[in-house]
Amino acid sequence: MLVLVINCGSSSVKYNLIDSANETDVCKGMVERIGAVTSIVKHEPTEGSRRKETKVISSHTEALQEILDYLMSPSNKIISSAADIKAVGHRVVHGGEKFKDAVLIDDEVKEAIKQAFDLAPLHNPPNLKGIEAAEDRLPDIPQVAVFDTAFHHSIPPHAYLYGIPNRLYRRHKIRKYGFHGTSHYFVSRQYYKLTDKSKTETRVISCHLGNGASIAAIKGGDSIDTSMGFTPLSGMVMGTRSGDLDPSILFYIMEKEEIQLNSLHAMLNRHSGLLGLSGYASDMRDLIAEASNGDRRCQQAIDVFCYDIKKYVGTYIGVMNGCDAILFTAGIGENSSLIRKKALADMENLGIEIDEIRNENVQPGEITKISADSSTIEVYVVPTNEELVIAIDAAKIASASGQTPWL
Ligand code: AMP
Repeated sequence: MLVLVINCGSSSVKYNLIDSANETDVCKGMVERIGAVTSIVKHEPTEGSRRKETKVISSHTEALQEILDYLMSPSNKIISSAADIKAVGHRVVHGGEKFKDAVLIDDEVKEAIKQAFDLAPLHNPPNLKGIEAAEDRLPDIPQVAVFDTAFHHSIPPHAYLYGIPNRLYRRHKIRKYGFHGTSHYFVSRQYYKLTDKSKTETRVISCHLGNGASIAAIKGGDSIDTSMGFTPLSGMVMGTRSGDLDPSILFYIMEKEEIQLNSLHAMLNRHSGLLGLSGYASDMRDLIAEASNGDRRCQQAIDVFCYDIKKYVGTYIGVMNGCDAILFTAGIGENSSLIRKKALADMENLGIEIDEIRNENVQPGEITKISADSSTIEVYVVPTNEELVIAIDAAKIASASGQTPWL
């Protein structure tokens, strides 16, 4: 069953056409800089040559039409008509308290996504634009929303409540939500497939380390805590986001630097984290290269990042009263042996030992055990695939909806 997975940003539409039955990519790509003088359009079919071009694309609806035109063009032969697509799966970042699972999109769901605009002002509005564009261009095809927050619905109140007046939770829903849920879900399920232990008895720590980074404690298959919170700004230090701060620092910065709330927001989201610490780059590859040339601030940024990982891993071993496996995923987690080794160094007393040779020989795209045989906690690199989770969920929900008469 072909599912079109869509992930919309404020000026971009990423897509992945997936065969959900075979779990394979058919074609992926993106339209970037929507609304700019020229937009960039990229397509990467699994079979056939890649294409990159510039065009004028002024809206998300036009971007989606551009994608459909490419997929349907007789010269590309990817699909013969839009009806070949049996479901559209939308990544929606914030589902608030309402959505525990993926859902078929109707007016009520769209209204709930709108209600969560304040909780995710950078993400939910473009996610809704993507939904409206797909409804416009693919009106007869079931649309499914898959939420980044959904997997973390199992986090109990003692972990999701903040120590602020309870009325703020009741009135404004200020609580921990957690993000990267589809990724934490996917890599933990990949681990369960590998092991003969029953899921209900298994405790896993999933480290999603990309430009955004979060760590989740997963017990019996359910998320019971995660490092990101009310928004994706909190938790460990990230590419450009600060992660956790003493809240008093915010008032202090505003006073001392004489800046307003919106500048503070930009500072914490876009100019902090690895970029802010190093004063050089947010990209881990650049930082590693520069640190190896002796740059002290780049080295410090790496040190903070690895220390944060160690802190969360140690904490989550504590809250779960042990751990069976630690999983590394996303750009840094999958590709940097140095960060994995440094983050989990000197944890032998907690039962964590990395095998240097296994760690150095991880092949891209492959699940690889990197712990030593003597390590009581296993450590794996597990490539993530959020789009596949979205495609499978969308296929399941579309099939159950009765809106797919061709099935
Ligand atoms: P993501 O957000 O998952 O795409 O991850 C992006 C991050 O992964 C960036 O900081 C990249 O520098 C980092 N990354 C990708 N490949 C490597 C690598 N070989 N070594 C270190 N970091 C990497």
